[in-house]
Amino acid sequence: MRLILLGPPGAGKGTQASGIIEKYNVPHISTGDIFRKNIKEGTDLGKKAKEYMDKGLLVPDEVVVAIVKDRLTEDDCKKGFLLDGFPRTVAQADALDGELKALDYSLDYVLNIEVDKDILIERAVGRRICKNCGATYHIKYNPPKTENVCDECGGELYQRDDDTEETVSKRIEVYLKQTKPLIEYYNDKNLLVDINGEQDIDKVFEDIVNILGSDS
Ligand code: ADP
Ligand code: ADP
Ligand code: ZN
Repeated sequence: MRLILLGPPGAGKGTQASGIIEKYNVPHISTGDIFRKNIKEGTDLGKKAKEYMDKGLLVPDEVVVAIVKDRLTEDDCKKGFLLDGFPRTVAQADALDGELKALDYSLDYVLNIEVDKDILIERAVGRRICKNCGATYHIKYNPPKTENVCDECGGELYQRDDDTEETVSKRIEVYLKQTKPLIEYYNDKNLLVDINGEQDIDKVFEDIVNILGSDS
């Protein structure tokens, strides 16, 4: 299974990704997670990405494209992959297209998770992430069993620097301008499937499984 998860910030891409990769046994390629890991480790890439991320802006295409190209050539991607948060611009989508052709891979679906703007802000601002394993929670919609403690690994939860109301609004603006055109891009390639992301987490997952099929 070769998939792309498309959708505005806070739509639930990461949340659905964890269920999808488990069920369909494919690696999860989240460019946001890759940047956050580099920031945590203090790498040059992390320092560069942080400048853009803190402002709610996109990291330059050439930086992101190089990372994803590299990642796709790794062995585990032979069994499929789930791209989460990439591509985010038409230039990135074109670059991905070229790379997939070179690797002789074709995409199965682009899942477009649709959520209204007001809901997105509440979701992103209430988001909490495990420092240790990256699991995602929401203070109201998906709280951990013990406040601030990860159910999976016992790690401490934190709030992303870019999950403030102001930065999320900027990221939504950037999404509308730079990423939303990809809906038409992938619709023209007959790959796009719209998913109603305003339902409960489990119901959204059920809809996704209905589209992908239950063969894992
Ligand atoms: P994205 O990766 O698209 O930015 P996340 O998966 O991190 O989004 O979800 C954003 C926040 O919203 C998280 O706190 C998550 O727990 C919560 N969330 C995700 N899906 C739903 C849903 N269907 N209903 C309510 N809250 C959700
Ligand atoms: P969300 O789904 O909540 O927007 P992500 O974790 O996917 O969050 O992305 C966080 C930030 O990382 C983005 O706001 C952007 O600065 C950067 N980023 C992630 N993926 C890309 C990408 N494909 N192109 C450019 N910047 C990216
Ligand atoms: Zn954890």
